[in-house]
Amino acid sequence: MSSKGGRRMRDRVVFLTGAGTSVESGLPTFRGSDGLWEGQSLEDVASPSAWAKNPAGVLAFYDARRRAVLAAQPNAAHDAIAALENTCDVIVITQNIDDLHERAGSTNVLHIHGEVLKARSTVDPNLVYPLSKPTIEIGDLCEKGSQLRPHVVFFEEEVIALKEARKAMRSAHRVVVVGTSLQVYPAASLVYEAPSDADRYFVSPDKQGVPNGYMLLRGKATAEVPRLLQEWQ
Ligand code: NAD
Repeated sequence: MSSKGGRRMRDRVVFLTGAGTSVESGLPTFRGSDGLWEGQSLEDVASPSAWAKNPAGVLAFYDARRRAVLAAQPNAAHDAIAALENTCDVIVITQNIDDLHERAGSTNVLHIHGEVLKARSTVDPNLVYPLSKPTIEIGDLCEKGSQLRPHVVFFEEEVIALKEARKAMRSAHRVVVVGTSLQVYPAASLVYEAPSDADRYFVSPDKQGVPNGYMLLRGKATAEVPRLLQEWQ
């Protein structure tokens, strides 16, 4: 809690989560040690040029991700983040395209790289639809008659709600960064938007890549996140 003008205010806690947060729910990160996803370059399945050349291949890639998300369950890290809403103002900025934060109960989630369980129009990016089936087919159209694509940010495309995410970071009393290699920009730059007097934590199994000003909590998300948030009770 912090005190402002004599009034007790709830602390604002901002999480920046990445693929590592969902690993223990059974959703692998995209990059293997060889930098490839199942032998394919990510640019070949998740870029505007891939979409132009081979939309069926791009749809198949995301259909497989969507099926995996539907089969996965939130883990102890997602659950702890959601439960923190009982005592703090919580904003989750996630690079993940899964819905595990929401299914755990988080109510304020910014999906800056999109959501695989939604589709969007290829002529009007404001036309976004929840999917009622696990696949998007060639021939599935938006209300303006254009092909639907996954509502995810491809390489070289602009991220979603970046302004809002920056604003959230700047307003944080505490920041917890979980399961991200901080290799993808501009998402990675958000860590430096946090106020220098905010408590800043970086949860990772690796000791490398800790941003300046962040305290490393070395370990897996399901162990370190609940442990840290328990300390705040
Ligand atoms: P990344 O793959 O670049 O980095 C993942 C990080 O998580 C690594 O540093 C790894 O050491 C760490 N990690 C692995 N297991 C962990 C665990 N159990 N607990 C905590 N940390 C763990 O991921 P990124 O930085 O999020 O960037 C990759 C992009 O791929 C993102 O844009 C994201 O949209 C996308 N992606 C999303 C999902 C998903 O939605 N679940 C899955 C794969 C990739």
